[in-house]
Amino acid sequence: MEILFLGSGAGELWPSAFCNCKTCQAAIARRGQDVRIGSCLLVDRKYLFDLPPNVALGAIRCGISLAEVTHLFITHSHQDHFDPCVLTAAGRATGKPLHLYCNRRLADLLPIYQQFNRWFDPHKLHLDVQVLAPLDTVAGPEDEFTATALAADHDLTDGEEPLIYSFELAGKTILYACDTGWFPDRTWQEIAKCQYDAVILDCTFHELQECRQGHLSTGPFLEIKQRFEEEGLLRRDAHFIAQHIAHGHEGDDPSPQEFADRFARHGVKVAYDGMIVNI
Ligand SMILES: [Zn+2]
Ligand SMILES: [Zn+2]
Ligand SMILES: [Zn+2]
Repeated sequence: MEILFLGSGAGELWPSAFCNCKTCQAAIARRGQDVRIGSCLLVDRKYLFDLPPNVALGAIRCGISLAEVTHLFITHSHQDHFDPCVLTAAGRATGKPLHLYCNRRLADLLPIYQQFNRWFDPHKLHLDVQVLAPLDTVAGPEDEFTATALAADHDLTDGEEPLIYSFELAGKTILYACDTGWFPDRTWQEIAKCQYDAVILDCTFHELQECRQGHLSTGPFLEIKQRFEEEGLLRRDAHFIAQHIAHGHEGDDPSPQEFADRFARHGVKVAYDGMIVNI
């Protein structure tokens, strides 16, 4: 399984075009791994997790096409995870059914987006929308994959029910878990039934501020990793990866190399845009 991180940032891009702090100035000067678009994962070029603004540009930066994407898993309706303009392009470009898995709130918002963009007609985009709630499982044709939606600890405003995904394909299992804080008990219970080859986990606030609700900082992130280890939920040589990284506006954020060094001590990789992990 090839896991390609098309985006690794939080809601605000890194650098922010509207921030003049030293971090952002340095990132604009260096570009490369210093640039993070919204978090987004592409598995085997076919399965896309989240659809942030700029994902198309992210793919082009990685030198790949998204034309082979057939299944789209959305965590929640926040703008940094779902951009209807991108979906308009995705649906029209392929002409093939695009399987869209999302929570109820996002499905309810789809017709409303049409008021902003008359080209966004969910019925003409060849979408196959499947609404998922926590603990729902879907399988691809001939069981080529199974995906289980799990509850996240994240914004519950206006009926939002954010999801994370446990995804199995060709004998490999990954967990895509952003945005979330400490997992709810019902999520831990489901996770405990699996063994993972890769865990991709929110680490939005890293060292910026302590956080275990809604998002995670480094401390609780490492506590979750420890629990995976203690409960035997990681397969041999499993990857544990920090994702959805926010910048702090103080100008003293770590560089990509500093990030990598700090987390490597704990056996953790820090995602960057364009990072590929083969499992
Ligand atoms: Zn987010
Ligand atoms: Zn900045
Ligand atoms: Zn969010």
